[in-house]
This record gives sequence, structure tokens and C-alpha cells, in this order.
Amino acid sequence: MPLGDILISESEIADAIPRLVGRISKDYGDTDPLLVGVMDGAMCFLVDLMREFPHSVDVATARVQSYSGTEAGKITVEWLPSQQSLEGRHVLLVEDIVDTGATLTALSQHVIELGAKSVKICSLLDKPSRRTHDLEVAYVGFEIPDVFVVGCGLDYNGAYRNLRDVRALDLGQQRNGPRLSV
Ligand code: 5GP
Repeated sequence: MPLGDILISESEIADAIPRLVGRISKDYGDTDPLLVGVMDGAMCFLVDLMREFPHSVDVATARVQSYSGTEAGKITVEWLPSQQSLEGRHVLLVEDIVDTGATLTALSQHVIELGAKSVKICSLLDKPSRRTHDLEVAYVGFEIPDVFVVGCGLDYNGAYRNLRDVRALDLGQQRNGPRLSV
């Protein structure tokens, strides 16, 4: 698949990070959220986001195995580190992209079942036109059209994660440009 033009540039991403952290900090106030990065896709976004906080912030990671085409709930979650306690925590799930919303709907439910006091979602990218699950994404970096993207942590069969910009793999599918959402 040919690598397309830049959809969202490194500098646009860099500009979005402080805006997102500003909104998160304002909303959470004195309550310390636990940032949970959903691996591997959120690795770059998680690092950018956590380093923007001017104070110490607790960070954990989780790896989710989802089964496409199935209803929310059909996921397995591996916590890293496995002893991470969510009891009484305000969890902020940090994701690379929300597509149908199935994965994060299931993960949010799972986090609440593990004793979290609240759960919210922060995603670098959002494809609202693809949504099949009624999911609130509290913090979105960029809304994008229904195109397959790579870069900034997002991969295609393991490749392209390290690209600093977000690119479409086939620009022929792209209908509209990205929309800034913060
Ligand atoms: P959902 O459960 O919301 O349908 O799927 C979310 C997951 O699908 C994301 O975490 C990501 O792994 C994958 N995904 C959805 N759209 C894209 C895309 O455009 N590019 C890449 N690389 N992964 C995507």
C-alpha cells in the first residue's frame, strides 16, 4: 500500500498536546488521574501527553486484544505492570485512534469493573463516521475522515509507527481533510 501525503503534521500534533493537557488539568482539578496508555498504538501520544503535565502524574499501560466484528466485551486486557491497582482511581485512557469504539467501550467497562471511580478517554485521533458504539471521547486531538492512517504510534503490520507525522496509506480514500478538535 503506498504511503500517502501528510494528513496531520508533527507540528500540528505538537500544538495539540498542550491544549489537550490544559483541558485535562482544568477538568480534573486537584484529583490526580491515572493515565493508562493503550499499547502499542498510543506509545508516542502517551509519552508526549505525560511529559506535558507540569507535575507528577501516574502512568500505566495496558495491552488490549480485541476481536473485530464482535460486540463490546469480547476483549482480553493485559495490564502492564500487572499489579497496577485501579481501585478508587480516576482513569484516563490514552488511545491512538477511536474507530468503531468497540475496543474502548469494552475497556472502559472493564476498568470500572476493576474498581475505578471514573473513566474518560483521550484519543489523538477520532474517526466519528465509523462509530458503531455510543462512546464519549472526552478529549480528541483531531477528527479525521474514514481513511487508514499510520505514524505517531499507528502501524500497518508493524511498520510506520515511528513516523513523526500522521499519514494516510491510500490518499485515494481521503474525502475531507482533518478537523482540529481541541
Ligand atoms: P475500534 O475498536 O475503535 O474499532 O478500533 C480501535 C483500534 O483499531 C485502534 O486502537 C487501532 O489499533 C485500530 N485502527 C482503527 N483505525 C485505524 C487506522 O486508521 N490506522 C491504524 N493503524 N489502526 C487503526
